[in-house]
Amino acid sequence: MSEPTAVPQGPAGDWSDEHLIRALQVADLPSLLVTLAQVLGDDGCIPESLRPVSVPPAVGGLHQGGLDKEQQARARALCLKGLRAFRDGGFTAVTEPEPARLRELLDYIAHGAPDVYLPLLAHELDVPHDCGAPGWTLTEVAPGRPFRVAVIGTGLSGLVAAYRLKQAGIETVVFEKNPGVGGTWFENTYPGCRLDTHNYAYSYSFAQKPDWPCYFSTQDSIRQYFADFATDSGLLPLIRFSTRVLSAAYDTDAATWRVTSRGASGPAVTETFDAIISAVGQLNTPLIPAFPGQELFAGPSFHTAQWRHDVDLADKRVGVIGTGASAFQVVPAIAGTVAELTVFQRNPPWILPSANYVDRIEEDQLWLFRTVPHYAQWFRFYQFWTSVEGRRRFSQAEPGWDKPGSVSAANEHLREKLTEFLTETFGDRPDLLEKVIPAYPPGAKRMLRDNGAWSRALKQDNAHLETGKILEFTPNGIRTDDGVEHELDVIIYSTGFSAQQFLSSFSVTGVNGLDLQEYWHGDARAYLGITIPHFPNLFCVYGPNTNLVVNGSTVLFSELSVEYILTAIKGLLTRGDAALDLREDAYERYNEALDAENRRMAWGAAGVNSWYKNAAGRVSQVWPYPLLDYWTASREVDLSVYSRVPLPPSARERVSAK
Ligand code: NAP
Repeated sequence: MSEPTAVPQGPAGDWSDEHLIRALQVADLPSLLVTLAQVLGDDGCIPESLRPVSVPPAVGGLHQGGLDKEQQARARALCLKGLRAFRDGGFTAVTEPEPARLRELLDYIAHGAPDVYLPLLAHELDVPHDCGAPGWTLTEVAPGRPFRVAVIGTGLSGLVAAYRLKQAGIETVVFEKNPGVGGTWFENTYPGCRLDTHNYAYSYSFAQKPDWPCYFSTQDSIRQYFADFATDSGLLPLIRFSTRVLSAAYDTDAATWRVTSRGASGPAVTETFDAIISAVGQLNTPLIPAFPGQELFAGPSFHTAQWRHDVDLADKRVGVIGTGASAFQVVPAIAGTVAELTVFQRNPPWILPSANYVDRIEEDQLWLFRTVPHYAQWFRFYQFWTSVEGRRRFSQAEPGWDKPGSVSAANEHLREKLTEFLTETFGDRPDLLEKVIPAYPPGAKRMLRDNGAWSRALKQDNAHLETGKILEFTPNGIRTDDGVEHELDVIIYSTGFSAQQFLSSFSVTGVNGLDLQEYWHGDARAYLGITIPHFPNLFCVYGPNTNLVVNGSTVLFSELSVEYILTAIKGLLTRGDAALDLREDAYERYNEALDAENRRMAWGAAGVNSWYKNAAGRVSQVWPYPLLDYWTASREVDLSVYSRVPLPPSARERVSAK
């Protein structure tokens, strides 16, 4: 075990017993117990009798690790003793645990995690710090070799790609169409926009933030986190803002990419790169469905992702089309302002009750995060761990299961629990209750968090939940198929995104001018969501089949994809190759297996419609396996699935001349 070293962070603040006792009322006990065991090097803080539960139930979170009242009281007493010992010992703490100790601590809090998970968990906990860093530089592995990479997009995936390339000392140009970083968090500014996954787990493992304002923070905090990260890690000079990539064309003879872009002013510019990392996101092209007579509507109409802040909704009759994740946030946020609210629903979503969904983090909790070393880190970790495989077990289809509305006994159990919640919530409004219970299995689409605000909004006297099919738009509103014209002043499309059209915002051509969209033919696929045959050194992050519905962490997924890409680049540099080109047989094999697994999940089962299925009826968005499988697959680059593209003679001469 490490020798105690001075606590590296935090002002001492008010460490009186009174304050400690008060703070412990809001502390997350499992995270604090394991923190104190680490900080004090004292196993007395992690007794077997207070070991937290690590598998979440069908509905509801794991409040205080599933400890009952009596256990919580004992845990608080132990924590108080530990915090006093830390204070009275002069704030001296054991800092980063060594591997054997780390294993003991992980085993305590992530009880039941098979050993194979431990490296993934240590990576997510960030011990040792930044273990996903490349650990090599271009100068070390290929001295004198010029190598330039274009990164497209500065959402969470693009920023981590740029950061890792910078760590490897690789010349990088980052193209960003917006004037600021953040991707979807830059663009979506609609009222109520916030995270619907736990905030602490929605941050880079290597750049954690101990003091988020909320458990599920609002859009401005998340955007600011990414902006701060870009600034603090020196990425801003690499980014060309307000610059759109128009095309990326592979030059087969030179084994390089020609990227054409246009900035806010001036002509289009074409430059050469050795590799491209596309981090353009899946949810960046707003989908506005076509309705007859759309152009006739006299008032303003706009998509949630293109919010018109100049349109005042006060005292207006507002129609919202859609009841997905964005609608779930925007409707409660505007319900109190508008004169009348009509929500047009095609299918209701399944609702996950989340009491603390909009709560601010208590001041005392924040104080603990800031002042007790490693507490915020363990808290973040525990949020992650309990959702790492999340509700996946409730979403697997059972062969031969034929009960409508569910895909297995476990899924039926989840359905019953969620239906109970809906029945309770809407019991006083039978007219609404009959409209809000989905016919499809839970897990087939994203489940939406609610703290009761959705039902409160729909129950308002001025609100209507319309389930008739939209027939047409009229100058005064929307007519549904029962013939009723709903009079409206403003129409808001909360109708989602063209998520299946991957990499469609610029033209991509590969070997011998092969067009990517023609190659995909409406059915985007990639190996590990990253590589595509005939498009050497084109790497995607958050590409096909990397979305998650009921488990895992999108942030970790992007981190792992980028780590894989850096390993691939290191390999080709070390071998003196120009590029890697995925073999078609490997691509087919990989996707066949993935498709079969997706068909065994609620969102892919036959008879279930979801936006995850593309025009070909294939699930092109979702990763169907446990998160652990992506971790394992992204650790090494299996060269047997790639063809090596040699450096052309002209490039070899350039390298040897240096
Ligand atoms: P969405 O979940 O795809 O919801 C679109 C809604 O529009 C659905 O209710 C859909 O009905 C309806 N719709 C689509 N076309 C329609 C048509 N022609 N007529 C009537 N209704 C129609 O879109 P979203 O709410 O923008 O969310 C998309 C994804 O973005 C989410 O799954 C999530 O990954 C992400 N997101 C995340 C957050 C967050 O974390 N805070 C917030 C917002 C969005 P059907 O259900 O019948 O198709």
